[in-house]
Amino acid sequence: MTVSHEVPVQRCDACGLVLAVRDGPCPQCGSRERTRWTVSGTARLSAWTELSNPPEGFPRPHRLALVELAIGCPLLAVWDGEPPEGTDAVRVRWDGSVYRAHRAEPGERGEGESPEIDARRSPFEPPR
Ligand SMILES: [Zn+2]
Repeated sequence: MTVSHEVPVQRCDACGLVLAVRDGPCPQCGSRERTRWTVSGTARLSAWTELSNPPEGFPRPHRLALVELAIGCPLLAVWDGEPPEGTDAVRVRWDGSVYRAHRAEPGERGEGESPEIDARRSPFEPPR
């Protein structure tokens, strides 16, 4: 079974800031011009929280994690599974509307993966 370990991010065309997929202007320079990339979902957990009273329609408990992708892009993700421990390696995936993160299983920790931007979508070439 092939599991996609790639997630979409955006890079501001004006200042180069790499950021999570989001609406609105670049938080650094205000530009709305950006290019979408796909990068490794290897990440580190920075912080997490549990909403004890989430909005209707959300599972309880509803956990959210602040993670940092290997390329250095922070993002907020829904946490799947048991509460995280420490700042262990995590994997991030994109379910089409939100990022989801879970603790990386052995063999899923991204050893050997390049933390660089996906070479097939080089920052120096326009996306196909
Ligand atoms: Zn910018």
